Amino acid sequence: MALERTLILVKPDAVQRRLTGEILSRLERKGLKIVGAKMLRITPELSRQHYAEHVEKPFYPDLEGFITSGPVVAVCAEGPGAIAVCRTLMGATNGREAAPGTIRGDYGQSRSMNLIHGSDGPDAAARELKLYFKDEELFAFDKLIEPVLYEAA
Ligand code: UDP
Repeated sequence: MALERTLILVKPDAVQRRLTGEILSRLERKGLKIVGAKMLRITPELSRQHYAEHVEKPFYPDLEGFITSGPVVAVCAEGPGAIAVCRTLMGATNGREAAPGTIRGDYGQSRSMNLIHGSDGPDAAARELKLYFKDEELFAFDKLIEPVLYEAA
């Protein structure tokens, strides 16, 4: 399984609700490695870049209002198949439909204020990570535990 990096955002609703630690802890407990992290306030311009595929959609103005409403925590998570692993941990977009045991399924009922963003594929991950992190803000470290965490595939 290829080593991947993915962009995770702890969205403003989760920061407000003091769920940042809980959400990042779920990623870490799964074995994902946090190799970059920062808190920032997303600007309208960054929102339009990040959500480029949604800018023309009817829900975009509300989405921009929400995502710029307070600070987020941006994280680069690394691991084998990290993009899909994170999507599974997140659950379906709408919290009411997300399975119990997933982050969205356990903590929310909203389709827009759904706690967490995770890149939805390799191209999106590469594009989105560049929006939030410079190369020197991402780290390589701590490989000793990996044979225990990940079987050879
Ligand atoms: N969103 C929304 N209304 C919708 C669909 C999506 O507010 O009808 C928001 C929601 O916050 C979602 C984000 O737009 O997380 C991006 O949508 P996408 O379909 O890419 O969902 P995701 O990949 O986050 O599950």
